[in-house]
Amino acid sequence: MTIYSKPSCGIPNDEHPAMLQLAEQVHEWGRELGFQQVGITDVDLGKHREHLQTWLDNRYHGEMQWMETHQDLRNDPAQLVPDTVRIISARMDYLPENPQHIQILKQPDKAYISRYALGRDYHKLIRKRLATLAKKLEQRYTHLAAEHHWPLDTIPQRPFVDSAPVLEKAVAEKAGLGWIGKHTLVLNKEAGSWFFLGEVLTNIPLPINKIVAENKCGDCTACLKVCPTDAFVAPYTLDATRCISYLTIELKASIPEEFREPIGNRVFGCDDCQAICPWNKYAKHTEENDFSPRHQLQNSDLVTLFTWTEEEYLKNTEGSAIRRIGYERWLRNLAVGLGNAPKSQAIVNALIQRENHPSEMVQEHVKWAIERQKSTKKSKRKIKRTI
Ligand code: SF4
Repeated sequence: MTIYSKPSCGIPNDEHPAMLQLAEQVHEWGRELGFQQVGITDVDLGKHREHLQTWLDNRYHGEMQWMETHQDLRNDPAQLVPDTVRIISARMDYLPENPQHIQILKQPDKAYISRYALGRDYHKLIRKRLATLAKKLEQRYTHLAAEHHWPLDTIPQRPFVDSAPVLEKAVAEKAGLGWIGKHTLVLNKEAGSWFFLGEVLTNIPLPINKIVAENKCGDCTACLKVCPTDAFVAPYTLDATRCISYLTIELKASIPEEFREPIGNRVFGCDDCQAICPWNKYAKHTEENDFSPRHQLQNSDLVTLFTWTEEEYLKNTEGSAIRRIGYERWLRNLAVGLGNAPKSQAIVNALIQRENHPSEMVQEHVKWAIERQKSTKKSKRKIKRTI
């Protein structure tokens, strides 16, 4: 995609009536493209950069090396897309109708899959919509530049969804989409937190949002207390190496034993900190068919998913975010869930079928699960407040 005027003399300032109108249009186009909210901000993310640096220094990112390697790009979006002066942040709701999240968490023989991953992978859809938004902006700005004799050059402008080192939560907060809650996710007082974020980096000097949402977490600490693995070291600080989303999705190696029991039946991600958050009673259901659950993944038995062959796994997760962990980690996670499930001969039989799986990691988790299924000892795990 090519566009725009370089930020040199002759460009409009962001108080120019045409630019104010253009910003209004950006909001309107965003809504037409299915985003529930759009905001615009500059690239000064000072305090968030410091917070991230401290977080990295504490090694809370675990195996996520990419968090470290592109620090320079994250700190300076203009290194990512030349001459960036503004970031358009957009949010799209993803919670399906009848999400059944609480019910599934309470049924330990069911597989809990993070609600964002039940439908088609969101990256493609959101990136495409953001690219359309950027195109509209390009066309309109080109027209305005000709009309007002603003200089025009051709440089790239790009949409991003999780795919680049962008401080997307900090950007969303600055752009007015909500506040970063104690659980480290962006919260909106009218929409909760069940939404995806995406960005467009641009060098068009659009007027920026000046009203940052008030932090309304107050004295609440529900998300910190409910976390099954105690992953919050403090409000606003998550030790990702303890987070179930990290352990079941990002971690490529064995899941450390101390976390296996607390993981319960969560086989791909975890939503507990969102599910407990009082602001999520205002969350809206998605309007996107692509985010509707596929293959009954919102309500499947652990055993059923564990007996999928690799071909079935690949077929049933085609176009889904679940594909990214691969079959080996899928079986690893399900074995943990089965080890935590109520004792059943059917489960033991299913696990025995995988005892000699070619992956040593799968074998080890299966062995752990069989031992748990056959064990007569009571769990020593302390009972936490649950959803
Ligand atoms: S559960 Fe409470 S503390 Fe946590 S994000 Fe929601 S309002 Fe804030």
